[in-house]
Amino acid sequence: MTRSDSAVRVRGLTKRYGDHHAVGGVDLDIAAGEIFSLLGPNGAGKTTCVEILEGYRHRDGGEVEVLGIDPAKADAHWKARIGIVLQSTKDFSELTPTEALSTCAAYYPNPRPVEEVLDLVGLTAKRKTRADQLSGGQRRRLDVALGILGNPELLFLDEPTTGFDPEARRQFWGLIESLSDLGTTILLTTHYLDEAERLADRVGVIADGRIVAVDTPAMLGGRGTAAATVSWRGPNGPEHISTDAPTKVVRDLADSFGGAEIPELVVSRPTLEDVYLQMIGAAK
Ligand code: ATP
Repeated sequence: MTRSDSAVRVRGLTKRYGDHHAVGGVDLDIAAGEIFSLLGPNGAGKTTCVEILEGYRHRDGGEVEVLGIDPAKADAHWKARIGIVLQSTKDFSELTPTEALSTCAAYYPNPRPVEEVLDLVGLTAKRKTRADQLSGGQRRRLDVALGILGNPELLFLDEPTTGFDPEARRQFWGLIESLSDLGTTILLTTHYLDEAERLADRVGVIADGRIVAVDTPAMLGGRGTAAATVSWRGPNGPEHISTDAPTKVVRDLADSFGGAEIPELVVSRPTLEDVYLQMIGAAK
């Protein structure tokens, strides 16, 4: 990755709170245009890392470049190139989405048109409703709308879908994919493994202030090459076989069932959650 392809470059990042080493030497690269998801248990150091990248928290050591600039020395021009959606906000509760966005647009040199932003986040029908009368999911859409209003090159999303119903979560994923298609780099922290799997080009797992793995969701922790489990219902009840050759097992099973349907046949590999929990357990 050349420097210009890099949206985020972190080397040896450290942060202490008193005696507590919250971040203990993190290296991280995120390419321009990538959706990168940072995963880790409560207290692992995700927010600390992200807030350092956003320029909101001082680091103790290490090198950090975000869009080619050290966030600790960043100016208003750099700030206008990033968008931030925090865990939860209650700002602008007395304004409608149109009013909140129109007010904030004045602070950006190159804002997206308010109507376009409302459309992107699916809030056009609610544009005249006061923010404190929006549902939780709609309120979150307004948070995202405010985060993308300035047309950011890099968007930070901190646990964006907490509290969403399944349908709202799917719609939100569509929004993130649209933003990504428009070229926005996205750094997402989430506790939902299905969200990371669906959205992220790569995931980084952080535990106890250290990155323990970075890979695509499909390959994390050797997932792509891990043994498969073939399960079915045999004459004596549920059966399971762990195998590196599931096709052969299924073929043999099909023969043993005389070509009839194999009851309750499932071939599965470890889920992202399985490998994640294993990694977090091993890091303790
Ligand atoms: P969560 O998933 O719960 O949001 P996280 O991975 O974002 O967790 P951080 O908020 O970065 O974790 O916290 C990392 C560690 O640093 C925790 O042990 C936390 O208690 C500690 N910490 C965070 N902020 C402060 C602070 N301002 N002062 C002291 N300790 C802090």
